[in-house]
Amino acid sequence: MGKRVAIYPGSFDPPTEGHLNIVKRSVQIFDEVIVAVSESIHKKYMFGPAERVAIWKSLLKDVPRTKVDTFRGLLVDYVRGKGTNIILRGLRNVTDFEYEIQMATTNRVLNDKIETVFIMTEGTYSHIAASLIKEVVSMGGSAKGMVPRLVEKELRKKILESNKK
Ligand code: ADP
Repeated sequence: MGKRVAIYPGSFDPPTEGHLNIVKRSVQIFDEVIVAVSESIHKKYMFGPAERVAIWKSLLKDVPRTKVDTFRGLLVDYVRGKGTNIILRGLRNVTDFEYEIQMATTNRVLNDKIETVFIMTEGTYSHIAASLIKEVVSMGGSAKGMVPRLVEKELRKKILESNKK
């Protein structure tokens, strides 16, 4: 059997300790993990795709067998284009579960070769959500422990910029 490559897609706006934990654990299972930053035209992001990619690249510089990429359009087509059939997602709670089972099922209807594999969050990461972190930091709170140092710095920079506008 060839190399097992898993695609970890997401908004990652911005990447959090929870996301990073999923990647670090998944490279113990797969031969390679490609973090695929989404560039959906329907979503409004705080960080542009190039910024999210740059952040991921620094976070993963010492994590072997990982790559960072962007994708747009149908995920199943992107995954097949990478020559694999494995989508990796993280699960925090039942809300994630309901959303994720719907997506995983839809992706299988679109392409029945696709398998979505889930990794459960670890206890200390289960409350971490990028959307909440953005809210906290924009109101002057600290995201310490929820995002890597580098991300905290980038978040603060972004919020200062947007306050100037
Ligand atoms: P999306 O917009 O595609 O849901 P996210 O960036 O919110 O992208 O999340 C990407 C994936 O990471 C999803 O599978 C999500 O459930 C998972 N995830 C998000 N936060 C955590 C966390 N704290 N622990 C584990 N998995 C997480």
